[in-house]
Amino acid sequence: MAEYLIAIDQGTTSSRSIVFDKQGRIRQIVQKEFSQIFPKPGWVEQDPREIWSSQLETLTEAKSRADVSSRDIAALGIANQRETVIVWEKSTGKPVYNAIVWQCRRTAEYCDRLKANGFDQIIQAKTGLITDAYFSGTKIRWILENIPGTRRKAEKGDLLFGTVDTWIIWNLTGGKVHVTDYSNASRTLLYNIHTLAWDSEILQELNIPRNMLPEVRPSSWMYGRSDRKFLGGEIPIAGIAGDQEAALFGQCCFEPGMVKNTYGTGCFILMNTGTKAVESKKGLLTTIAWGLDGAVEYALEGSVFVAGASIQWLRDGLKIIESASQADGLAESVPDTGGVYVVPAFTGLGAPYWDPYARGTILGLTRGTRREHLIRATLESLAYQSSDVIKAMEADAGVPIKTIQADGGAARSNFILQFQADIINTDVVRPKMIESTALGAAYLAGLGVGFYADKEDIQKNAAVDRVFKPAIPEAKRTELLGGWKEAVKRSRGWAK
Ligand code: ADP
Repeated sequence: MAEYLIAIDQGTTSSRSIVFDKQGRIRQIVQKEFSQIFPKPGWVEQDPREIWSSQLETLTEAKSRADVSSRDIAALGIANQRETVIVWEKSTGKPVYNAIVWQCRRTAEYCDRLKANGFDQIIQAKTGLITDAYFSGTKIRWILENIPGTRRKAEKGDLLFGTVDTWIIWNLTGGKVHVTDYSNASRTLLYNIHTLAWDSEILQELNIPRNMLPEVRPSSWMYGRSDRKFLGGEIPIAGIAGDQEAALFGQCCFEPGMVKNTYGTGCFILMNTGTKAVESKKGLLTTIAWGLDGAVEYALEGSVFVAGASIQWLRDGLKIIESASQADGLAESVPDTGGVYVVPAFTGLGAPYWDPYARGTILGLTRGTRREHLIRATLESLAYQSSDVIKAMEADAGVPIKTIQADGGAARSNFILQFQADIINTDVVRPKMIESTALGAAYLAGLGVGFYADKEDIQKNAAVDRVFKPAIPEAKRTELLGGWKEAVKRSRGWAK
């Protein structure tokens, strides 16, 4: 009897493979970084062959270090960096261009044109997304417009498009399977999240041939099997989700109103809204969380651009801490920030402000301000910014938030999570297992092959490390949030 699952966590800067047991515990983890290519300011690319080879290396190494055979592995699941575009030749598997990474801004001008024509309204209504260079669609179009010969080949059906999940599975099955799941499709700008189909009107506007697009399947599904030449046997590939949706699943946010916040370099906040696709009035994205048992569930998504990165700035820019883990102790050595606010809008502000001209701002300095106050105010800014997004979600969804499930590197900070609970007046839960993304991929794969009977079976694994409970009076909360709102106001429009 197979006792393990293997998860591929194909991230933006590294490929990872993790062997999990049925209880969701890590048996082995192997990680490998790969190259980032910056051909011009604002452009970001990766080599698709290096994505695949680094991923395959971690897979074979994780399997061998875990000392398991392919028969011991019930299924394989994939979580991936989202929106990144790869186009390759169907007959040879050769990419026609580098992978264009989600961060790449090269199609910003084209997006502005779509907006000027009002087509962004159609895009939002059908895909739940704002018209931005971030998403896949305009990047595919860029390849077809700019790489000689590709449009003709695409129209003849000789080229395939995929997000990274699709590319990995196509390679892992020896070129047999061209597939993605609902969550990844919902990030392409081409997929109608209400009718669950590639959208003809958008495809026509962007001039993208339908025959290059993958089949869209549920997030738990028997997509195919790994080719014997890679892992010794044929392992069922049975789970796919975009990294943030996978984390939502890994955190067992199965009920509407449940929220997870990944406190990493930035913060990625997703709220399960159940079978209802909630259209945002506050600049959040509507996205498919996953498709299971013939139905899809939706999520609202918002992100904070600079979160843990501001702690790196304290360390590397200001040099007032030596390591991120030192920040908590220093922040707790003072009773409050002494009235100081730090708004780390280094690259503008995301939801719900959407101000690209906002810049980092420090307010309330006095002769008595010490580094401890600045450090504390910076840690608090992660919670304030997340709170702004979560409040917007609550308003959009009309669903009260039950708890916030925390993960990511900066969720190690007890100070940040306690302040988050205080400021938003909800429990914040840190699970024992903070590799939520990979775990979500493994769970989806496990469901796909019956390794788990249902979601309840998975829920049994959820183990809590610590629950942070709100511990300040309402008047204090109002006062603190009032100061933050004022500070944000003053950071806005600065770079205009
Ligand atoms: P990503 O996946 O976005 O690269 P991670 O989830 O690995 O990021 O988190 C990295 C971030 O976590 C860094 O920005 C770092 O500043 C922050 N971080 C790491 N350890 C701590 C800590 N003990 N306290 C606060 N922040 C931390």
